[in-house]
Amino acid sequence: MQSIVIVGAGAAGYAVAEGLHSAGFKGAVTLVGEERDEPYDRPPLSKEVLSGAWNRERAALIGAKRAAPLNPRVLTGVRATSLDVEGHRVELGNGESLDYDAVVVATGVTPRRLEQPDSPNIRVLRTMEDSLALRALLVDNEPRLLVVGGGFLGLEVAATARGLGATVTVVEPIPGPPLASRIGTEAATKLQAAHADHGVEIHTGLGVASLDATAGGGPVHATLSDGTTVDADVVLIAVGSIPNTQWLEGSGLEVANGVVCDEFCSAGNDVWAAGDVASWLHAGYDRRLRLEHRTNAQEQGLAVARNIIGSAVPFTPVPYFWTNQYDVRIQVHGQIVDIDNNKIIEGDPSEASFVQTFSVSGQVTAALGWNAARLMAEQRRQLIEAMGP
Ligand SMILES: Cc1cc2nc3c(=O)[nH]c(=O)nc-3n(C[C@H](O)[C@H](O)[C@H](O)COP(=O)(O)OP(=O)(O)OC[C@H]3O[C@@H](n4cnc5c(N)ncnc54)[C@H](O)[C@@H]3O)c2cc1C
Repeated sequence: MQSIVIVGAGAAGYAVAEGLHSAGFKGAVTLVGEERDEPYDRPPLSKEVLSGAWNRERAALIGAKRAAPLNPRVLTGVRATSLDVEGHRVELGNGESLDYDAVVVATGVTPRRLEQPDSPNIRVLRTMEDSLALRALLVDNEPRLLVVGGGFLGLEVAATARGLGATVTVVEPIPGPPLASRIGTEAATKLQAAHADHGVEIHTGLGVASLDATAGGGPVHATLSDGTTVDADVVLIAVGSIPNTQWLEGSGLEVANGVVCDEFCSAGNDVWAAGDVASWLHAGYDRRLRLEHRTNAQEQGLAVARNIIGSAVPFTPVPYFWTNQYDVRIQVHGQIVDIDNNKIIEGDPSEASFVQTFSVSGQVTAALGWNAARLMAEQRRQLIEAMGP
């Protein structure tokens, strides 16, 4: 193995490069990244960068000290346009091509958009530029912000925008407390109350039927699915994302909600995938997963690096994500899926902190901490032990 090409210079792509370096790989590593910015981390984009607490440098993905020994060839501002699996070659938008012995697809996701008019005041949030542009609209103006979508991203932005003085309305088509399917009813109800306490209006069971705006800017007029209307100065569309697999069309790779991989994160024929774009078979759960979680991007990148150079170990992590909103940090280890029971094991949802476990047929499969970081390491240890090797 002489030459490894990693397409996508985000968290997963850099983790592959780090993993190859720690495993002593001595061949050539090339990272191809469409973005021009120095690599940066995405979680702060809806939190510290958006609020202004951090500048863009502080959100760097990998400091110069950590990056230096990796020494990959990094092509920034260059898009991979196609993959020739048989020929082991990546075609680039700048007209060049790269031959490889192994290639890693780590191209992340793109925000899903609605049928929306072209307006500078209707935004999505994925990149550093998106975050800085949204901040410019929110800061010092006390605008009316409409957040379409009450998922993690939408609610984090709602919380940060309140801190910047915006008046915030969130609409979410699924009825009930937002995020209940991801964090359980107790935490979701408490989170909804936290937003209400901070003055955010959340309307669930309501979608956006149409958005009217002009290309030159100005207010956006939203008509909701029940016929009511909301006027906003800024609209954030936060309705999920689409895996960046368009460039793989015609490659023969199987793509279905991401790059379809086996339990080793291999898509076959020396092609691997990691991070938000990878849909792999989690052998521990016997289920296909595609996770848009920061920690997964890191862990999966490292696992792919090890497997490329011959480890052949199935990737069976206990998934982990966190969200920060106001003074609340919610952490979830494991998966809150097909749950038939749950138990509060520390504190109480009526208090400032609690820990809850979720189980399926008597087996604990997930643990949630609400401002309980100190207690979560032990929960994670137990979940990893239960997952087995
Ligand atoms: C605003 C925001 C807040 C978040 N907050 C949290 C959080 O609190 N907790 C949490 O667990 N997770 C959070 N996440 C999710 C987490 O950041 C992602 O899971 C993680 O960044 C995924 O890393 P990745 O490398 O797979 O994808 P990315 O970081 O998206 O990197 C993929 C890169 O590939 C590039 N690319 C795409 N197509 C091509 C191509 N054809 N050629 C070359 N390059 C290409 C893209 O431009 C991008 O730079 C958040 C995400 C966002 C956007």
